[in-house]
Order: sequence, then structure tokens, then C-alpha cells
Amino acid sequence: MSTFNFDVITLFPKAFELINDLGVITRALDKNLIDVNLYDLREYGEGSYKQVDDKPYGGGAGMVLKPEPIYKAYESIKKSHKSKTLMMTPQGKVLKQKDLVRWSTLNQIIFICGQYEGFDERIRYLADEEISIGDFVLSGGEIPAISIINGLTRLLPGTLGDPDSLLDESHNSSLLEYPHYTRPQIFKGMKVPDILVSGNHEEIRSWRRQQSIERTLERRSDLISSENHEKLSQSTRLNKNFNQLMNVQIGNDYNYYPDW
Ligand code: SAH
Repeated sequence: MSTFNFDVITLFPKAFELINDLGVITRALDKNLIDVNLYDLREYGEGSYKQVDDKPYGGGAGMVLKPEPIYKAYESIKKSHKSKTLMMTPQGKVLKQKDLVRWSTLNQIIFICGQYEGFDERIRYLADEEISIGDFVLSGGEIPAISIINGLTRLLPGTLGDPDSLLDESHNSSLLEYPHYTRPQIFKGMKVPDILVSGNHEEIRSWRRQQSIERTLERRSDLISSENHEKLSQSTRLNKNFNQLMNVQIGNDYNYYPDW
């Protein structure tokens, strides 16, 4: 299987040392399933000071990343035929699990990480997609890029010990995952639900399905489209209309249907 290349343009390559120490990601690196190549933006800076930023035209606070160094770094990266360039920006489309799934069939992602006030607008032309990891502002694009590398790598075949663990997990469908318990059976007076130790796999599946629906309605009803949500009356919501929820899933563009 070919290696998935993550090529990152960053002013802070050191931030990516974190990746080497993140469990399953370390395993993927060791098995050569992924490669993380860092392009230190400073090296592409201009003049003897290796300048990468400048004051904004029109005035205002902060410094803006200049276009030339980023273009130069970008042009030095060898592109594969299944490659996408992602620009990290709080103004981008908010990242969803389905984006990670979509990108997992590529074999290269080029990240452009910002710093300071962000990018000269002309840098945007390099990007296939502009991505935000949430409606908040960080000081740089490194943590967003690491989040994407981490989330995408665990989807690659061969990374997780048991790929089945991807199936039920939150955000893979429009439902959040059911609650988990492990030993001991009683901890500080809190007992594991009897059903989970009953050995009745059919009932366990049905309990988990119900918990998933209940959790999603309680915590993230926004994941279920409002139209379908209203259709489910309170009394039938949890048990009966699971098929309707599955329709919602289809409506939301997800193409994974749990085998319940
Ligand atoms: N002044 C900019 C924010 C700059 S933050 C604005 O208002 O839009 C500096 C850099 O951090 C950005 O260029 C981007 O690369 C990164 N960044 C900050 N928050 C982010 C987020 N939520 N998602 C992705 N990247 C982010």
C-alpha cells in the first residue's frame, strides 16, 4: 500500500514533534503508512532576515504572512495525482468527520498553516479547501493541521489494531456513540448496566442503539435535521422510529449505515 504523505508548510515545524508521540499515529509512522514532511517557512523567507511577514496595507494591528515565501515553499513540494491543498483558517468550512473520510482516499494533503494576523489574500488561490477546526481562533494553523493528520490517519487501513472500532463511533453516522464500561463492575457504588453483562448480544445491540439515539437527542440534536426531529414524537423517538433516523443519515450525506 502506498504511503499517505502529509506535507506541511509551517513557521513552527517543532510543533509537529507531538505527532511522533500520539499512540496510533506513531504506529502508522513506524509502519510507513504515513509520512509527515515539514517545510519550514522561514527557510523560504526573503532577504538576509528571511522575512515572511509584513505590515498590512491600509494599516491595522498585527502582521500578515507575505505571499512569496508561501508560494515558494508550495512550489517546492512534489504533488501526487491524488493530492489536495488545505489552508488552515478560522474563516474556512468547519471540519467534519465526513471530510476526513472523504480525504482518506487521497494520498497527499498539503497543509498551509498561518500565524499572526493570517495570510495575504492572494495565498488563498493555492488552496483547494479552506478549513477551520471550530468557531474559535488559535494563534497558528499547526494544531488544526495536527488534528487533521491525527483524525485522518486513524481512518487509514492498517493503523488501528481493530478497524471495527471505527464503525459505531460518534460522527461516523448522525448518531453519537453509546456509553462504554469496562471493569470493575462496581466502582464507587456505580454499577455497570445489567444488560451489558447479560451475554444477550441481541439485547445489548438494541440497548446500545437506544442509548445512541437518546444521547444524540440530548446532547447534539443539531446532528439530526430539524424536520425529521419534529416528526419523531417524544414517545416514539427512542424506540420505534429508528428507520426514520437512518433516513436522516442519508439526508445528511453520510453513506455509512450501521448494521443494527
Ligand atoms: N486574523 C485572522 C485570524 C488569524 S489566527 C482572522 O480573523 O481570520 C492565525 C492563524 O491561525 C490563521 O491564519 C490560521 O492558520 C490559524 N487558525 C486560527 N484559528 C483557526 C481555526 N479555528 N481553524 C483553523 N486554523 C486556525
